[in-house]
Amino acid sequence: MLGTLNRRLLEFIAASPSPFHTVDTVSALLEQDGFMRLCAAAPWQLQPGGRYYFTVNDSSLIALHLPEGTPTGFTMSAAHSDSPTFKLKEHPQSSAAAGAYVQLQTERYGGMLMGSWLDRPLGVAGRVLVEKGGRVISRLVHLDQDLAVIPSVAIHMNRSVNDGYAYNAAVDTLPLYGMGADAPSLLALAAEHAGVDEKEILGHDLFLTCRSHGTVAGSDASLLLSPRLDDLSCAFGCLEGFLNADSSTAITVYGLFDNEETGSESKQGAASTLLRDTLRRAAFSLGMDEEGYQRLLANSFLVSADNAHAKHPNHPELADPHNAPVLNGGIVLKYNANQRYTTDGVSAALMRTICRMAEVPVQVYANRSDMVGGSTLGSIANTHVPVRTVDIGLAQLAMHSAYETMGSADLPYLVDAMTTLYSKALCMDQEGGLSWV
Ligand code: ZN
Repeated sequence: MLGTLNRRLLEFIAASPSPFHTVDTVSALLEQDGFMRLCAAAPWQLQPGGRYYFTVNDSSLIALHLPEGTPTGFTMSAAHSDSPTFKLKEHPQSSAAAGAYVQLQTERYGGMLMGSWLDRPLGVAGRVLVEKGGRVISRLVHLDQDLAVIPSVAIHMNRSVNDGYAYNAAVDTLPLYGMGADAPSLLALAAEHAGVDEKEILGHDLFLTCRSHGTVAGSDASLLLSPRLDDLSCAFGCLEGFLNADSSTAITVYGLFDNEETGSESKQGAASTLLRDTLRRAAFSLGMDEEGYQRLLANSFLVSADNAHAKHPNHPELADPHNAPVLNGGIVLKYNANQRYTTDGVSAALMRTICRMAEVPVQVYANRSDMVGGSTLGSIANTHVPVRTVDIGLAQLAMHSAYETMGSADLPYLVDAMTTLYSKALCMDQEGGLSWV
């Protein structure tokens, strides 16, 4: 049994094969719910009770729901729109004589498990930039067909491959796209999909996509398998909570950031001033000054939502035995003493009270102390927006594989927790006590 939320998550993932598509998918859901698109280049005249969103680079998005009265703070979440994959180079394919292989020319985007991309049908998705009537505009492209494959070398030609293999992105992972001169130009296919002429394409950002469909698996239907669970399961779960929540006295903020997989350092990444600039612009548009903005920050809370490593069934020794989450065990609070994750005693306590109200189980994650783990949005965003922040996620296996695994029971926990969070506002009293109101 797939369940309504899991089914909708898999539809969301299928509709979001690139960060540009993720933002487009989220934009459509926001507009269905009455959110109005803001233009970065036009004045913002936000109204109490208003719902707004805007996008940057068509790959990051921030949505704001304003309270009817004077806002007391910001209640926020941040997830990421991108996933590790291969990006097509500007000249995306080799030319070939009759009978020869035609290969796509790619480079790695993010830190994927390279072997997981081999021997699967692959598609292509992203955007093309075209000139129309003197304007440069972006068109989404999703070549949703079995276009290419990265073939393994046969075991007979590399008998030691199962002892470990170092993949070379310039050699081992170039996709086979066709045979000889009959293979059509990839950009011609993209142009046809976008309804333009190939000659009109002035630029492109195109990525390989894993075309395997998501599914529920396991003898007891306890597993959910899909591409891009990191981080689209959190992007979707936080959005559900954001849209389902009752109104609060805080400005509720939904953030979706690109380029997390490459370190967030881009104009649309969490390391940019995007979140800070947006919050300030919203506060000033409501007639506040710098002092008012700083007071909002004092009563603000950010949930950085990105998946966590579940204890591996074949390799439990890779997990900290006392701080390892399991699939279907509820929300994971993620900890790191060196601030790769932002969770501290205060933010953990605040998130635990939310989960208690939502009747959602909580588990924890910390790396083995002799291993260096990943990092994510929260600590990076905090350098510009210093608010209490917790790092959470859903437990998953095979993070950064082309096809990942999580528990089928966990998404409802995230939605319930985020719905409760977004219905609340943080309030700090004169003695420093914190409460959700
Ligand atoms: Zn992630």
